[in-house]
Amino acid sequence: MPTSAPSLDRFAGYGQDAGLDLPTLDGTAGAGLRARFADGSMDAFADTLAAVHNCARPVRLAGTSTTVDTATGEVLSTFSSTDAPLGVLYRPCGNRRAHACPACSRTYARDTFALIRSGVAGGKTVPATVADNPLLFATFTAPSFGLVHGHRGGTACRPRRRDDRTHCPHGRPHWCTQVHEPGDSRSGAPLCAECYDTASAVIWQWHAPELWRRTTIALRRAVAAHLGITESTLGKHASIQYAKVAEYQDRGLVHFHALIRLDGPAAAGIGAPAPAALDGPALAALVRDVAPTVTVLAEPVDADDTPRVLAWGAQLDVRVVTAGRRVDDPDAALTPGQVAGYLAKYATKDVSGLHAEGQHRHHIAALRASCADLAGRAARHHPEDHDYQRMTRWVHMLAFRGHFGTKSRRYSITLGALRRARTRWQTLAAESRRTGQPIDTRDLERRLLADEDDQTTVVVGSWTYLGTGWRDPAEEALAIAAAARAREYDQWRAEQMVRMPDGNRDD
Ligand SMILES: [Zn+2]
Ligand SMILES: [Zn+2]
Ligand SMILES: [Zn+2]
Repeated sequence: MPTSAPSLDRFAGYGQDAGLDLPTLDGTAGAGLRARFADGSMDAFADTLAAVHNCARPVRLAGTSTTVDTATGEVLSTFSSTDAPLGVLYRPCGNRRAHACPACSRTYARDTFALIRSGVAGGKTVPATVADNPLLFATFTAPSFGLVHGHRGGTACRPRRRDDRTHCPHGRPHWCTQVHEPGDSRSGAPLCAECYDTASAVIWQWHAPELWRRTTIALRRAVAAHLGITESTLGKHASIQYAKVAEYQDRGLVHFHALIRLDGPAAAGIGAPAPAALDGPALAALVRDVAPTVTVLAEPVDADDTPRVLAWGAQLDVRVVTAGRRVDDPDAALTPGQVAGYLAKYATKDVSGLHAEGQHRHHIAALRASCADLAGRAARHHPEDHDYQRMTRWVHMLAFRGHFGTKSRRYSITLGALRRARTRWQTLAAESRRTGQPIDTRDLERRLLADEDDQTTVVVGSWTYLGTGWRDPAEEALAIAAAARAREYDQWRAEQMVRMPDGNRDD
C-alpha cells in the first residue's frame, strides 16, 4: 500500500503560510501589537507565550529565586524576573475551566487523565499490578425532585397515552411529546416549576459530598463483612481506593462518576494485590446493596422548613471494568483507557455549560434564587455561625461545594506531583541548556515525581504579584488562537499515531 511515512507529513497549521484565526480587533488593541513590533519586544512576547504554553491570562510576578543544595548549602543557581524575556516572570494561570483559559484547562485535563489512568493501568510510578485488582465504574445520581424535560436520543420527551394525559394541580400537562435535541434550553427544566421541589434539590446538592463520604464508609463496612473480618482490621487485608468527578446534569444537579478499586493492604503500597475472596462482580454487588441504604438527615434551614432524609437517586449504574486476577471479560463494554478518558472529560466540564450562550434557563436561575433564599433564611434563623449560611458563597455553583475531582490518598499520584514534575523538568532543561550538560534520563520519572522531602535541592524565592493577564486584548486573543492551533496539532499528531501501527500512543 503506497503510504508515505507519517513523519514526512507536515502539519498544515504551522508555517509561514498558515495564519492564525484572530477575531477582529479594534484599533487600540491592534496598536498594542504594532507597538511590540516597533519597540522590538515581539520576540520576547513570543518566547513568553511559549513558556506559559499559550495561557490566556498568565500571572505576572517580580522577584528572585535561588536553588540551594540541601546537603551542602551550595547555591546552584539564581533566577531573577529581570532576566525573563519581558523583564517580568509570567506563570500559567492554571485554571481548570475551558472558558477561562483553553490552554491551562487542557493541561489540567491531561494531568487528570494521567492521574486517573495510572490508577487503572499503572505508570507514573504506580506499579502495573494495579491493573489486576477489581475495578468498577459507578455513577451515582441525584434523586428526582419532580418531572423534567430531557433529550432522550431522538425520541419523545415524556410520551403518554391519550387516555393517560393528566394535569398537575396548576393545570400543566404531565406529558411532553416533543423531541428535545441536546443543548435544548428546555432540557432539565421542570414540566411545572411550581410542582418541582427546588428547595429540596438545593438542599440535596449541599449535602451531596457528605452522602458520598458516607457511601465510602458503608462500602468499607460491607467489604469487611464480606471478607468475614471486623472493620477495624480491614486495613490489614484490603483497602478501597477511588477517583471520582462531579458532573452537572441539565437539571442543575450533579452526578458522581467514580472509579472504585479494591487493593490489598494500603501499607503494602498502591495497587497491592486484592484479597482473592472478593472479585469485581462481588464488589459491584456490594456497591449496589450499599448505595440505597446511605442517607443524610438534613436539618431544616429555619422554623418554617422541614427536616429531609436525603439519598441517592434510583438510577445507579455500576459496571465491572476489571474483574480482578486477569479474568477480564473480553466482551467488556469499557476499557480502562475509556473510563479514564470519561472521567478526565467530566472533570473539565463545569457549571458554565448550564449557562449556554444566548440562553436563559429559568430552572437554573430558580435553583440559584432558591440557594440564595435558603442561605438568607438560615442566616436570620441561626444567630450563631451555621453551616447553611455558607451557602451564600456557593450560589453560582447551585449549592454544590464539593471539589470536581477527588480521590482517595492511595488511588494513584496527585495533580500536585504532576505539576511539580513539570517544573522540575523545566528547571533541568534550562540547566542543561545553560551548562551544556546532558540530562540524565536514568530513573528520571521517579526523580521528577518524587515527594518534596526526597528532593536534594530546595528553591528559595521572594515574589511580588504584579497582576494577571497580557498587556491588551490583542495579546490575549493571540494566546487563545495559538492555544487552539496547538490543540489542532495535538489532534493531528494523534491521528498520525493511529496510522502508525507501532506508534507510541502512551504519552
Ligand atoms: Zn491559563
Ligand atoms: Zn419536553
Ligand atoms: Zn404544577
